Amino acid sequence: MNPVPLIRAARIRGRVRQLGRELAGAFAGNPGRVPAIVALLDGSFCFVADLVRAIPVPDLRLHFARAASYHGGTVSSGSVTIDALPSCVGADVLVVDDILDTGRTLAAVVAALHAGGAARVRTCVLLDKPARRVPVDGVRLRADFVGFTIPDRFVVGYGLDHDGRYRHLPDVCVLDGVAIA
Ligand code: 5GP
Ligand code: MG
Repeated sequence: MNPVPLIRAARIRGRVRQLGRELAGAFAGNPGRVPAIVALLDGSFCFVADLVRAIPVPDLRLHFARAASYHGGTVSSGSVTIDALPSCVGADVLVVDDILDTGRTLAAVVAALHAGGAARVRTCVLLDKPARRVPVDGVRLRADFVGFTIPDRFVVGYGLDHDGRYRHLPDVCVLDGVAIA
């Protein structure tokens, strides 16, 4: 399998800078409240590392949680497991993930944060594959902030993996030969 670049590192860098400014503007609507970012590992580790340094605000909280629905394959398994979700009572929360696919992962995390007492929950993803969205409780999830909308291909690089491989690639790449059901 040969990763073929889809979005080059320089384009990612530019878009992440723009997203940082958009997010600072969004947080400014809630003065006096320290925003809390919840980044979903493992896939978002590159994105959130660059993103937080591009948000020009004097203070924010950054937490990491782990959400998994793929379990090593390339097809969403349907069941989402969430570990280490922080307590965000009364907080203005931004969930950051690598990619929005079926929407099951983000829907589960957003629901858990609301159930835990978050005042506001918004979502930011580097990549959006709208073609694969499924309704969760009758709703097709949309992220509040999206880096790039991409076609229905399996991608790796810039944090995204295939069974632990390719996360280190600076470009987002299509992985040829991986079928997505
Ligand atoms: P969802 O719950 O939206 O179906 O899946 C979201 C999660 O599935 C993402 O956080 C990511 O871990 C994984 N995922 C979905 N599409 C891809 C893809 O094209 N490549 C990789 N590496 N992971 C993906
Ligand atoms: Mg993920």
